Amino acid sequence: MVYLTISTGVGGGVVLDGRLYRGSSGNGGELGHVTVDWDGRACRGCGRRGCLEAYVSGTSIAERAREAIRADGNSSLASLADPTAADVAAAAEAGDALAHSVWSETVNALACGLTSIVNLFEPELVVIGGGVARTGEQLLGPVRKRVREDAMKPAGEAADIVASALGDRVGVVGAAAIVHERAAAFSA
Ligand SMILES: [Zn+2]
Repeated sequence: MVYLTISTGVGGGVVLDGRLYRGSSGNGGELGHVTVDWDGRACRGCGRRGCLEAYVSGTSIAERAREAIRADGNSSLASLADPTAADVAAAAEAGDALAHSVWSETVNALACGLTSIVNLFEPELVVIGGGVARTGEQLLGPVRKRVREDAMKPAGEAADIVASALGDRVGVVGAAAIVHERAAAFSA
């Protein structure tokens, strides 16, 4: 399975054959830095361009909305001092054209990055968590459809893309699971 947290940044985790994949130094599974546009927006997390994180993080959604408002002030978001990703999602849902365009770009970037990830691992399950995932099917519905269409045949059909059921407890439950796993290995 693959986990993606979409929050102020984008983090990830990969469970391969029942075990968390750590990589050679413990940082394996940095899925937020999969490239979706090699000449794209600067990524604050790693300094490269066009990472998934540079488009779909809550920070980037808000930033892209501010840029669009500066270029074309015609949006319900223009009346807000500091529109957040949640404001963009709500305005897009309410039919605001500028917010809809920012949201569509978010959906496209996430579908693009996830398609590469799904092709790479052919996971059974893709779980999406983090604050931006609270928009639920507004995000996951179109992303699920695109990944199913765009991914290689068996991979796209096998991957179930769902919202995290653990909500904000996901980090502490994960930490507890690691302690449990290490304690079990130690006592074995
Ligand atoms: Zn990056």
